[in-house]
Amino acid sequence: MSDCIFCKILAGQIPSSKVYEDDELLAFHDIHPFARVHFLIIPKQHIATLADCSSGHEGLLGRMLLLAPRLAKKQGLDAGFKTLINTGRGGGQEVFHIHVHVFGGGDPVKRS
Ligand code: AMP
Ligand code: ZN
Repeated sequence: MSDCIFCKILAGQIPSSKVYEDDELLAFHDIHPFARVHFLIIPKQHIATLADCSSGHEGLLGRMLLLAPRLAKKQGLDAGFKTLINTGRGGGQEVFHIHVHVFGGGDPVKRS
């Protein structure tokens, strides 16, 4: 997908702060974090949304989810974390390459 920002990250055309990479998955820090730790797990295969997945994607989706606690722990989220998958415009999805948000550890913006 030539116009997909996450495919451009995968191709090295846009820089990212990498958290993890294997043959089928990449994780990198969100550019606009809404917690002290906030990263995204994406498949290397372009899939637009969770609603585009079928039974053939069960293994991939399972591996994406199972990666979340491993990486969260490595990022220091020992007490727990949140996961989020926005799906479709009505679900608040802005980047149409499926991704799991993993975040926690408090708000990065200091409040008085
Ligand atoms: P969503 O609303 O679920 O589609 O979330 C897309 C997320 O991608 C947002 O939290 C953005 O901050 C994040 N994002 C967009 N562009 C980049 C980028 N170049 N590097 C890292 N994160 C990005
Ligand atoms: Zn893509």
